[in-house]
Amino acid sequence: MSDLPRIPRSASDDYAPEALAARRALLERVAGRALGHVAGAPVDAASARGNIENLVGFAQVPLGIAGPLRVDTTAGLREVYVPMATNEGALVASYSRGMRLLAAGGGARARVVREGLSQHPMLVYDGLREALEAGAVARASELEFAELVATTTRHGKLVRLETDVLGCRLLLRLVFTTGDAIGINMAARAADLVSAELARRTNARERYVHGQDVEKRANARAALEGRGRSVVAEAVVPRTALAELARVTPEQLVAIQATYATGFAQLGTQNWLVQAANGLAAVLLACGQDVAYLTECAQGQLDFRVTPAGDLYASATLPSLLVGTVGGGSQKGTAAECLAVLGCAGAGHANTFAELLGATVLAGDLSLMASFCAHEFVAAHERLGRNRPTHEG
Ligand code: NAP
Repeated sequence: MSDLPRIPRSASDDYAPEALAARRALLERVAGRALGHVAGAPVDAASARGNIENLVGFAQVPLGIAGPLRVDTTAGLREVYVPMATNEGALVASYSRGMRLLAAGGGARARVVREGLSQHPMLVYDGLREALEAGAVARASELEFAELVATTTRHGKLVRLETDVLGCRLLLRLVFTTGDAIGINMAARAADLVSAELARRTNARERYVHGQDVEKRANARAALEGRGRSVVAEAVVPRTALAELARVTPEQLVAIQATYATGFAQLGTQNWLVQAANGLAAVLLACGQDVAYLTECAQGQLDFRVTPAGDLYASATLPSLLVGTVGGGSQKGTAAECLAVLGCAGAGHANTFAELLGATVLAGDLSLMASFCAHEFVAAHERLGRNRPTHEG
């Protein structure tokens, strides 16, 4: 079933240099390049220019791999090891087990179903009438504004302009495609240009480029309309694999998901995924992403059903994945190496990266729910995830 070998482990000491070297050698074969920074080679300080101020060095977080993860993506079948940077013991093991469950059914399927990074400038007028008139001007100017945006970025494109009126305030929703970058710099610059031009044409009293500040906070807009890349991942997991690898049945998983849904409904949370933040934080950190976007990225829905054949259908829907394979810190040091391990380094790979993330989230949620069902969660953390300090300080 799987073309990639299982991750090499050492029964005697899995943290010995030889064990790490064996795993790195496998990754280097897969990535088709050396992984010197992952192995510990220092990063050139100058490469951090534009990413940080008052540089003193580079933080170190343990980096592991989960997988193989098998996914039918828009770009074709991918089988990858997923780099995860974390200090949370048991996390990589949990995702790895989820990936084995997905592979047992032939792998997951994942698709970017919507793409668009929104910005929401607000302009203030004397009253409702002026705000409504300005909204009409904005909508009539959409093509001109798209041309204006094209003067500042080659990869960012204004693809939609919507208006809303809140009293005397006009709210713009500007949606951009951003190539393979998260694109927040290009979109913010474009939103500044567009809103300034609209303010000039309509005599706005005030203008706020981040008027409705959706940035880096879980919010209903992002959950409903999507922001960045919206991804759906799905898989059918055979009943036999669930029994063998996780000691659960599809019916138990459906029941626990209904229980979680009941609890989430009472909480009023928009996030019905169970451990998306865990896996996403680890991959985002490994791959040089802006991890603060986790606030938006880690929300979504989990859905379990029993198929007519008695297997488990599982899906994870992530409406707002803000990730990129170009720009930010994605092309430097360990980040570039980890993206290469995923086959997602550089231009042309942002959607695939997002789809692999969607499948990773599905694997983690499936594994965690299974461990809750089988009452194995606490034991797994006791075994893998405890790191009791031996001294104070
Ligand atoms: P960026 O590095 O600022 O922009 C991407 C650059 O890559 C652009 O210059 C773009 O050129 C170029 N590019 C080349 N090939 C590309 C391709 N295939 N697809 C897309 N762009 C390509 O990256 P960003 O994603 O816009 O910004 C991410 C950074 O902004 C993160 O580090 C984040 O922390 C930070 N940030 C900014 C704000 C803000 O409000 N400004 C807020 C939060 C975070 P063209 O523009 O000419 O197309």
